[in-house]
Amino acid sequence: YVNNDACYPSLIVTGQIMDTILSGNYDTDRLAVLMSQTGGGCRATNYVAFIRRALKKAGLEHIPVISINLSKIESNPGFHINLEMAVRLTYAAAFGDIFMRCLYRMRPYELNKGDSERVHEKWKKICRKFVTKKFPGLPEFNRLCREMIRDFDSIRIDESLKKPRVGIVGEILVKYSPTANNDLVNLIEAEGAEAVVPDILDFMQYCFYNQIYKAENLGTQKSTARICSMGIRVIDHARKAAFKELKRSRHFYPPVPIREIAKYASPIVSIGNQTGEGWFLTGEMVELIHSGVKNIVCTQPFGCLPNHVVGKGVIKELRRKYPGSNIVAIDYDPGASEVNQLNRIKLMLSTAFKKLA
Ligand code: SF4
Repeated sequence: YVNNDACYPSLIVTGQIMDTILSGNYDTDRLAVLMSQTGGGCRATNYVAFIRRALKKAGLEHIPVISINLSKIESNPGFHINLEMAVRLTYAAAFGDIFMRCLYRMRPYELNKGDSERVHEKWKKICRKFVTKKFPGLPEFNRLCREMIRDFDSIRIDESLKKPRVGIVGEILVKYSPTANNDLVNLIEAEGAEAVVPDILDFMQYCFYNQIYKAENLGTQKSTARICSMGIRVIDHARKAAFKELKRSRHFYPPVPIREIAKYASPIVSIGNQTGEGWFLTGEMVELIHSGVKNIVCTQPFGCLPNHVVGKGVIKELRRKYPGSNIVAIDYDPGASEVNQLNRIKLMLSTAFKKLA
């Protein structure tokens, strides 16, 4: 349904949506597809068109594809993201980020195998119940965040065990989706290391921050910038309780503010570099290095020009600026050799283990 000359994430997204629609589990007369649209210079603007084309090919063009965008590319009469939906979305993303921070930090060191996963499963149920209930309030959200972090923090781990910490950065889909990155977190853990995956809410803040930069430097609408500035503050506010608890904990550390990440990136790439993951990808690598995670896998989808510029393209400069950084770029696409990916990751890990010794 989608031509394979497009970038890998667009193939995966369109394929997964078509797979679901054609699974027979849904009434296709009562179905709509929601898709984000960045409005930037890469294919992330075109997923909506890809999906519409695929639906047309399957004879299902009556299924509406609703674009979620900040750039006023398409209006969607009949569908509005209201405050309640936005709040639930922020809560869900914040919970997911805490899971990544806590689970990946504890699982490789746990004394009783399965403890971290048990805590994860317990909190997944509680979080689902909370985000789907009527009127999920901020005080309860804050309390859940604090309790969840404490629960993970009290898992018994081998404190004397030293493992290399490996950051995962890259294109947003390949970075987070186990389907797209061949289960990279589990691979890193199976090889005896700890995976560190930065927050997805940082990426949302990056999208907001870009609009502010554009209004200040490229003459775009100030009103959009004001809304986006508020978006950054709302996310910061929603993360406040978790931030404090992560700081107070014995094993975790809190996220770095988006303005700080922009400062990290700016000596290397311009903040005007906003296509794909743009300056944010470079900034995340610097953030990881600053927090002591010098081993990094930079996931690069095949066919993605923007992230080759701000990912692979800056590695040489990062190595020069931060001696001891051990960064490897790995290409992902449907035809990429898994053996090749594994070899490159193992090579990076062997350097990481040598440095640990
Ligand atoms: S950032 Fe790269 S992989 Fe992602 S949509 Fe754009 S071109 Fe495709």
